[in-house]
Amino acid sequence: MNLLNPLKGNKLYSVFTGTCPVCHEENMYREPNPYKVSRIFEMHERCPHCGTKVKMEPSFFFGAMYVSYAVGIAFAVPAFFIAYFGFNLSLFNSFLIIVATLFVFMPFIIRLSRNIWVNFFFSYDRKYQKT
Ligand SMILES: [Zn+2]
Repeated sequence: MNLLNPLKGNKLYSVFTGTCPVCHEENMYREPNPYKVSRIFEMHERCPHCGTKVKMEPSFFFGAMYVSYAVGIAFAVPAFFIAYFGFNLSLFNSFLIIVATLFVFMPFIIRLSRNIWVNFFFSYDRKYQKT
């Protein structure tokens, strides 16, 4: 993820890399690859670098479901436009493309939603920057 390094310190960095929202140094997840689906929800109790406890309360990530609705639409709409207008598929087939798109990207959408959700509540703190 070196490509995103210029974004460090910006919330987008944490959102797209899944790093701790406070220090941007360590991954929040025990398994960085979201496509290892059985481990998708495994997170560190506390950030290994700065000690932030991102899961503030037991059902904290319940709210990420609302975010995933918006993120899902952000995937579904372009999928529809590409299928319907780009490939001239029928309305029904375009709908199938949407379902397939959401299915294929689901692990990514779930993680992205959690990252966005957690960044509503935490902000980057420069004092944890690695020197
Ligand atoms: Zn941290």
